[in-house]
Amino acid sequence: MITGSCLCGNVRYEISGKIGDIVHCHCQTCRKAHGSAFSSVADVQDNSFKLLDEVELGCYESSPGKNRYFCPNCATQIYAKKVGTEYIILRLGSLDDDPKSKELNHIWVSQKASWYSLKSKLPEHLEFEQNS
Ligand SMILES: [Zn+2]
Ligand SMILES: [Zn+2]
Repeated sequence: MITGSCLCGNVRYEISGKIGDIVHCHCQTCRKAHGSAFSSVADVQDNSFKLLDEVELGCYESSPGKNRYFCPNCATQIYAKKVGTEYIILRLGSLDDDPKSKELNHIWVSQKASWYSLKSKLPEHLEFEQNS
């Protein structure tokens, strides 16, 4: 069982099945919804995803037939869903466990933030590092 939750803890979920390959989406709506350079997502079948609490998720239709669901208290994005499909598009930042999936690709690079480079090799710090 793989588990996830929102920032405030009001929304918790568990996944019994497999999590699909990891896709990093750079589309403008993902950037806006997540307030970040891109959103990392993977498909999960409806019947293996289970919300553990009686919380009604917030919902925003970001494009026709595609709804984004989030915690109504802290606004963590949990998943998106296209009408008529049998899978959700899980927002991987909400996971508490390793999805045990592999990265597949970057999509919507045509709408990528101009200030983010897929090629740069930046210094990595284990925790916050003050800029000098
Ligand atoms: Zn929350
Ligand atoms: Zn996107």
